[in-house]
Amino acid sequence: MSTALVVIDMLEDFLSPSGNLYIGPEAGRVIPAVAVELERARAEGWPVIFVCDSHREGDPEFAMWPDHCLCGSQGAAVIPALAPRPGEPVIAKRRYSAFFGTDLDLTLRERGVEEVVLVGVCTNICVLYTAADARMLNYSVTVVAPATASFDRAAHDFALQQMETVLGCQVRR
Ligand code: ZN
Repeated sequence: MSTALVVIDMLEDFLSPSGNLYIGPEAGRVIPAVAVELERARAEGWPVIFVCDSHREGDPEFAMWPDHCLCGSQGAAVIPALAPRPGEPVIAKRRYSAFFGTDLDLTLRERGVEEVVLVGVCTNICVLYTAADARMLNYSVTVVAPATASFDRAAHDFALQQMETVLGCQVRR
């Protein structure tokens, strides 16, 4: 089965202390954990795909959250420690699910991918809804728990449990 690593929202606005929607101290734990998964995926020769929040001014999401990851802003950039390499697709998204209104599904199918490994932030928001859509589309999904994080620890734990018990994801602890 062909596998891809999907890196979700490892962006300046979420991971940098000066970011508009900084997740807090968990950033220091999740960044090196995602780096390990990136290194492993590249060594295995898996496709690596970055999916990145990229909002427009006045996005309806800003009724719920502070403005963040404005298209083209520094806050919407992948953090330098995890920078995409040439040839690794970077897919902009405007909603929680990385599949909604994007060509992620097509990008995976073009590469013959049947299994996705998900890492990134936030566990209970974009990781959870991306996992849900991946499962609805019949992908096998593995979530690397240490390489996910949220500003809300209880919601992080709940989301991992939902992905494991309700969505049928493999959760690697
Ligand atoms: Zn957003």
